[in-house]
Amino acid sequence: MSDYDYDLFVIGAGSGGTRAARVSASYGAKVAVAEEYRVGGTCVIRGCVPKKMLVYGSHFSEDLEDGKNFGWTWDNAQFDWVTLRDKILADVDRLNNAYTDTLKNHDVEILLERAEIAGPHEVKLASGKIVTAKYILIATGAWPDVPEFPGSEYMSTSNEMFHLDKLPETVIISGGGYIANEFAGIFNGLGSEVTVVNRSDVILRGYDESLRDRLLQIALTKGIMYKFNCTFDKIEKREDGSLDVYMDGKTRPVQADVVLAATGRRPKIDGLGLENAGVKINEKDAIIVDDYSRTNVENIYAVGDVTDRVQLTPVAIREGQAFADTVFGDNPRTVDYQCIPSAVFSQPPIASVGLTEGEARNQYGNIKVYSSDFRAMRNVFADRHERSLYKMIVEHQSGKILGLHMIGPDAPEILQAAAIAVKAGLTKQAFDDTVALHPSMAEELVLFK
Ligand code: NDP
Repeated sequence: MSDYDYDLFVIGAGSGGTRAARVSASYGAKVAVAEEYRVGGTCVIRGCVPKKMLVYGSHFSEDLEDGKNFGWTWDNAQFDWVTLRDKILADVDRLNNAYTDTLKNHDVEILLERAEIAGPHEVKLASGKIVTAKYILIATGAWPDVPEFPGSEYMSTSNEMFHLDKLPETVIISGGGYIANEFAGIFNGLGSEVTVVNRSDVILRGYDESLRDRLLQIALTKGIMYKFNCTFDKIEKREDGSLDVYMDGKTRPVQADVVLAATGRRPKIDGLGLENAGVKINEKDAIIVDDYSRTNVENIYAVGDVTDRVQLTPVAIREGQAFADTVFGDNPRTVDYQCIPSAVFSQPPIASVGLTEGEARNQYGNIKVYSSDFRAMRNVFADRHERSLYKMIVEHQSGKILGLHMIGPDAPEILQAAAIAVKAGLTKQAFDDTVALHPSMAEELVLFK
């Protein structure tokens, strides 16, 4: 008999927490998970999944337009925000139920209430009940980091975008990263007037420069406006609910229905009681962990965005799996953070794996860069002047591929497969040796000259 109520108590039922809970339970551990909102976490409930549905929904405006050259006509095509929103929210409910069922089927006890750490082996629930656990896993994720200035409380975050009563006519987005560019594409596609405002003069810092330039060029052509090196001074709310946004010291405000703060996400540690067990955090509020996701307290671990290693769902899932294998599966494992593919679901999307051209030059000096700048067949036919760009970064001596970067239709779908080759350390010659699959966009990957 264990001295504790549970072998494992997980705080947070998001991607990392649910994977860790389920796998630990399958190894025979007695597991409980506490969730203050909904099982599934950011990705499923208010992130990747509903966002992707919005991307799909918003892309129909272009598809309908392009369809004319393929012989289709639509009389008076209309878009209804509430229909799309409610379908998405219903799908979120479905996934929430599926996640809940999976946990229950693995005998994981779900406590739908807030939990905080009361001691190294103690968790206090919102109901006041205190439970004990041999191990505690913190998987509380991250939360939008909204800058503070007068009226910044009128800004919305990505959390609220899935619940808007109506489609905003004008949207100002603060930030130039993932969320800014994805929602810029969504609202632009749905017909809103969109302005992206960033503090610096770059978008998507960290992605290959040529791709970022290409996205900017295409986004401007689509009508998305950008303001760079621009700061927010204040926001005032009018009686009708619309917002007056003052920027860059100018006295005349810009009006917007929605101002979206997309300025990064901070580890969610508020009120978590870390101090009650002496769990250490860094200057960015991230819980400090070792390679096995163990904190400075021997029996307390943390996975996912709350550790601010790589803020991506599949990484949190890997960390949750590695935790369960290590602690309950008698198979100590760490996560390999090399060559993690990533994508921005902008329109068109960007997908990337490995080193950018700049990073490769800094690290290797002598590199070769291959690129293919082309218009997808479908775009040519549709008279859409939107060019794709694929780039392969290769180590000069060995021919090993160091990075692969793509912007264009379906780039994430194509890159996921190609990332296997990059991760496996294949050379450009291996790509050259592969016969092209014609006609496709992906064949450009084996035809680089
Ligand atoms: P990002 O880190 O991608 O971008 C933040 C942006 O906000 C940058 O342009 C940055 O400017 C700017 N910024 C940062 N701090 C401030 C500040 N204090 N004031 C004004 N501007 C600021 O964050 P997001 O919010 O877009 O996304 C959060 C995370 O969520 C991402 O890092 C990603 O890991 C994850 N995510 C992943 C997605 C995917 O995989 N497709 C989709 C959505 C989110 P600058 O760079 O110029 O300094």
